[in-house]
Amino acid sequence: MNLALTPEQELLRDSVSKLLRTESTPVRVRAAEPLGHDPVLWASLVAFGIPAMRAFEAAGGGGMGLLDAVLVAEEVGRHLASAPVIESIVAAHLLAELGGEGQAWFERVRDGGAIVTLALHEAGLHPRQIVPGGGVADAILYLDDDEVVLLAGTPRGTARDNLGKAPLASIDLEGGADGRTRHILAHGPDARYAYLAALEEWKILTAAALTGLGRRALEMAAEYASEREAFGRLIGTYQGVSHPLADSITDIDGAQLLTWRAVWAMARGRDDAAASVSMAFWWAARSTATAVVRALRTFGGYGLSVEYDIQLYFRRGRAMALPLGDPKAELGRVADRLWGDARWSPLPDPGAVDIEFGYGEAAEQFAAEIQQFFDENLTRERREAMRRSLDGYDPEMQRKLAEAGFLYPDWPVEYGGQGRSAYQLSALGVVYEANDWSRVAIGTTNMGARMAMAFGSEALRQEALPRFAAGTASSCLGFTEPSCGSDVFAARTRAVREGDDWIINGQKVFTTAAHVSDYVLLLTRSDPDAPKHKGLTMFLVPMGLPGIAVEALHTMQEERTNITYYADVRVPDMYRLGPVNGAVGVMASAMKLEHSGEGYHISHPALVEAAVAWAHEAIDESGRRRIDDPDVRARIAQAAVHNEVADLLCRRAVWAGVEGVPSRAFGPMSKLFTTETYMKDSADLLELAAPDSLLEGHDPLGVLEYKHRHSVGSTIYGGTSEVHRSVIAETSLGLPRTRA
Ligand SMILES: Cc1cc2nc3c(=O)[nH]c(=O)nc-3n(C[C@H](O)[C@H](O)[C@H](O)COP(=O)(O)OP(=O)(O)OC[C@H]3O[C@@H](n4cnc5c(N)ncnc54)[C@H](O)[C@@H]3O)c2cc1C
Repeated sequence: MNLALTPEQELLRDSVSKLLRTESTPVRVRAAEPLGHDPVLWASLVAFGIPAMRAFEAAGGGGMGLLDAVLVAEEVGRHLASAPVIESIVAAHLLAELGGEGQAWFERVRDGGAIVTLALHEAGLHPRQIVPGGGVADAILYLDDDEVVLLAGTPRGTARDNLGKAPLASIDLEGGADGRTRHILAHGPDARYAYLAALEEWKILTAAALTGLGRRALEMAAEYASEREAFGRLIGTYQGVSHPLADSITDIDGAQLLTWRAVWAMARGRDDAAASVSMAFWWAARSTATAVVRALRTFGGYGLSVEYDIQLYFRRGRAMALPLGDPKAELGRVADRLWGDARWSPLPDPGAVDIEFGYGEAAEQFAAEIQQFFDENLTRERREAMRRSLDGYDPEMQRKLAEAGFLYPDWPVEYGGQGRSAYQLSALGVVYEANDWSRVAIGTTNMGARMAMAFGSEALRQEALPRFAAGTASSCLGFTEPSCGSDVFAARTRAVREGDDWIINGQKVFTTAAHVSDYVLLLTRSDPDAPKHKGLTMFLVPMGLPGIAVEALHTMQEERTNITYYADVRVPDMYRLGPVNGAVGVMASAMKLEHSGEGYHISHPALVEAAVAWAHEAIDESGRRRIDDPDVRARIAQAAVHNEVADLLCRRAVWAGVEGVPSRAFGPMSKLFTTETYMKDSADLLELAAPDSLLEGHDPLGVLEYKHRHSVGSTIYGGTSEVHRSVIAETSLGLPRTRA
């Protein structure tokens, strides 16, 4: 994986940003209204080579890649550039590609002698249409069946005042003489292909501009919420203000990743590339539309005032995607491109792309090995038993997985692992899930073991780690107590020093896998007089010690968890992790591990697959397959987009961990988005397939029913969504803390 830009791309982005900071200030943006065109800004962009950047070098263009143009578009959106930048980039690229008369027009665009834009709908179906940039263009490209036509001499300045204050014009492409001339630049299947590919490029660049715009609007809202007071407090301390902003910045990060992924998918010739473009367009349109509403509302009544810049963002953020029509229509295209016959839609040549979303060959190879292991060892009976118990533990299978090196492959070799990469571990997680094999006990053991490696005594490491590595021992997590879960540092379970031992008394709840565990990672209060965060000590306590009792706590999601009791449990000091009263440091390390992004995105793919399988089988009252119903397609496509965004946010968190990219928000964002959309989609798909989805079972419908019950818990354990929203608001948007 690689999400780092090249130095040249960083330079391009910084230079464009700098240019727009001076040439597209809010004052200039207002001055350019209502036409939405600033000729001085346009001249600067032409001088910078922006309109010609995507055209081939051989034709006299910049020869730059689609990702470069995406970075420019993000800045264009961020600074509300008053000019048809995206349309010009796409049109210039197309003109140069078509050659002939198109080349001459391209050169005029490149040299600042003309503005050329393009119509987004086929002329045959929409002879009169709203054309972005049409209000200031000298010529408009349009597609008429298999002819690419250039309509020259369109009078400038006919733009109608509009929601986004953009240079839109309603243009009759086929009628009227009024000095206009038509030039057929190319015809035939190749010409049609090139035009349709150009439209996909417009979608990608518009998606990028939307993400830049949405991000800036949220930053402005966060800045305001960090200054404005109400009821004696900064409004940013109210979660009703900060949490929607946290949701939106997560959505926008997802939109940016989706846009980049679409470019990558094109460059790698992936068969989901076309679907990826439609996903990016719809998701960017939707998340930005939501973000600008939330951002504006943060300003209260002032947000509506034309004196405030946020309304500039609101108008453009709501309007930018709409020249193409209802963005939801793009969800239908997602479905066509994923499950229909439009998989190979025309796409632009993105040029060289250095970013990489794949986990790499080594990870793929490793995943194949694990799949082979499951094929050979995972019997039907085993799978059934796992499903019934759902505590993730089958001692024999655990040992076999350990022997094969598939239990903790990322551990250092000295502790029985193979030092495999985080990418290989992520690939392993996908295979486990595809085989319906729970990793709950593996996950809890991993955390106990990792803390022992980092903070344990030599004696503890020698005792426990070889057993964990061999799959003959497991660990559970004892953090949550009856009186405190989210507020984990309010733990009351007491640990009192007595010579070389500690005497522990207390109770934990939701100690998942405790009934099959040999150790518990136990958070205790060792100094009740110290401040809340400074009087806690962590232990890895053997579960076999006298005084420990385990009681089952069954959940509606079929996952047994436990209540654990500790009565005068005498624990030798060798089981302490980290310094006395230093549990906060151990917990920080444990949380870092938990927020690595790996392991969150596991349940959504099966949910979407189940819905698709059901929709292919089920028939509606008119005898039509449900998959052929546009509403059904759109709803499943929506879940597929969420699934993709969730995957990308998790991948980014994993990548950031490997590369040491500092961001405390990446892990919480992946947890929040993954689990919240999993819960919402499972509810929506359950309703879609009702009443049949009411029945439990193993077929697609049973999967929907089970996933629905399972999904709610995923938004609670590992930190609730509310807690994650607070962390995201603080770390990603710089909002004030809302928790003591
Ligand atoms: C199936 C399952 C397995 C689990 N496994 C384990 C395990 O193995 N080990 C373990 O230690 N724990 C485990 N947990 C516990 C889990 O971590 C807690 O349930 C979780 O942290 C929430 O704590 P709580 O249930 O006490 O809810 P509370 O903290 O009481 O929260 C109740 C509600 O208030 C909200 N809330 C709390 N604080 C804030 C705030 N500051 N701002 C806004 N809203 C807030 C929460 O989001 C929630 O909606 C498990 C839970 C479940 C459901």
